[in-house]
Amino acid sequence: MTQPNPGSGKLRPGFPARLETRNTPVAPVRPSTPQRPVAVSAYKNTLIHGVGLDSSAVRQSMVAKLAQQGMTDSAVLQALGSIERHRFVDTALVNQAYEDTSLPIGLGQTISKPGVVARMLELLRQGSPGRLGRVLEIGTGCGYQAAVLSLLCQEVYSMERLRGLHDKARNNLRHLRLANVHLLFGDGMPGYAKGAPYAGIIAAAGGEAVPQAWIDQLAVGGRLVAPVSAGAMHAGKQVLVVIDKTPQGVRQSVMEGVYFVPLKSGIA
Ligand code: SAH
Repeated sequence: MTQPNPGSGKLRPGFPARLETRNTPVAPVRPSTPQRPVAVSAYKNTLIHGVGLDSSAVRQSMVAKLAQQGMTDSAVLQALGSIERHRFVDTALVNQAYEDTSLPIGLGQTISKPGVVARMLELLRQGSPGRLGRVLEIGTGCGYQAAVLSLLCQEVYSMERLRGLHDKARNNLRHLRLANVHLLFGDGMPGYAKGAPYAGIIAAAGGEAVPQAWIDQLAVGGRLVAPVSAGAMHAGKQVLVVIDKTPQGVRQSVMEGVYFVPLKSGIA
């Protein structure tokens, strides 16, 4: 496991705590029934209630299961309990939205399992009891993890290389009106220098190695969590790595095996 904290036990900075003076309130989550429901979300609500599911109760039960599995960060659990995952998946999959499973989101990509999202966010926050500062997410996908992240950090910069998913995430996130989430269409391999340095970087897609640009764009005291290929000896396997940038240098810890979609170059 990783050291709880880089830099001789000092708390990781929220730095850069404020890019702008705007102060976004925590958990501005809106009620599940929209004022003027659009057809699809009305249908989703009908479905989720139609099978006797109350989305809040089902979400709490998902969170309780994650806690039983060993997730202990109450801020992460609370954030997962607030964001309506069923709004981020296709109508036909709504009834599986609160199972601990990844689901297709189109264009060959998947929304990560809630357990994996919880684990990565716990690692990202480890040693930083408060809100994180600015965080870069590589792989917006449907926007679910970006929404959860928005409750845990000051600013979220989330990059997606597929136009179709970038647009989908924008639609999915609209109702939440999260002023601290910035969706960027582009290749995340070179990171996003304009927002750097980041208190945290999190990737939802795994490459052969962690791009040097991400490490360069991490603040001293910042942490990066990403899946990477386990290497030639373990073809097709990935592991989760945690990289801490300390005043003394970069420290990498290898965690458990994981399965993520591949990190790819360019846009499409
Ligand atoms: N966090 C997402 C998970 C999406 S799956 C969610 O909550 O839905 C990972 C995403 O990473 C895919 O959408 C894929 O297109 C994207 N991706 C892969 N390589 C990328 C790159 N170089 N830059 C940006 N996004 C990338």
